[in-house]
Amino acid sequence: MAFGLNVRAMKFLADRMLGKLAKELRMLGYDTIYYRGEDAHQMIQLARQEGRVILTRNTKLIPKRPEDRIIRVTEDNPLLQLKELIQKRYISLNEENLFSRCLLCNVLIDEISREEAEGKVPDFIFYQQKAFYKCPQCGRIYWQGSHQGNMQKKVDELRLAESREHRA
Ligand SMILES: [Zn+2]
Repeated sequence: MAFGLNVRAMKFLADRMLGKLAKELRMLGYDTIYYRGEDAHQMIQLARQEGRVILTRNTKLIPKRPEDRIIRVTEDNPLLQLKELIQKRYISLNEENLFSRCLLCNVLIDEISREEAEGKVPDFIFYQQKAFYKCPQCGRIYWQGSHQGNMQKKVDELRLAESREHRA
């Protein structure tokens, strides 16, 4: 298994080139911080402190200590990058964890009562949906399907990629 770690428990640090990938990993439920800085030394320090695996496209970034874990992403497109991580067995799709995290804050979202959601989401959504969730940090309300745009479609595509991988 990758780095001898439980794949489900992997925590990531995406470097400045990989902001979109960071959001997509959060979509899958992975604890992922986005490091916008340019200081590679500081970035490695942070990853060590928090036990995170660094994701980078930088070929010059190399581990300096045995505990440093760096994955070099070769694909350009964020969805292909996710597929790459699945194919290399660094991540996997776990239904339970999908859409469990705020895409902006990286924290787990909490289920809230319908009463609390009323008036804070469009009426048609309120009547259509049963369960609502809230980010404890930014207060953003989520519901099934609220993750922007074609996230669900992306997940379906990844599922396909993963099942192909398992058959191979
Ligand atoms: Zn949030």
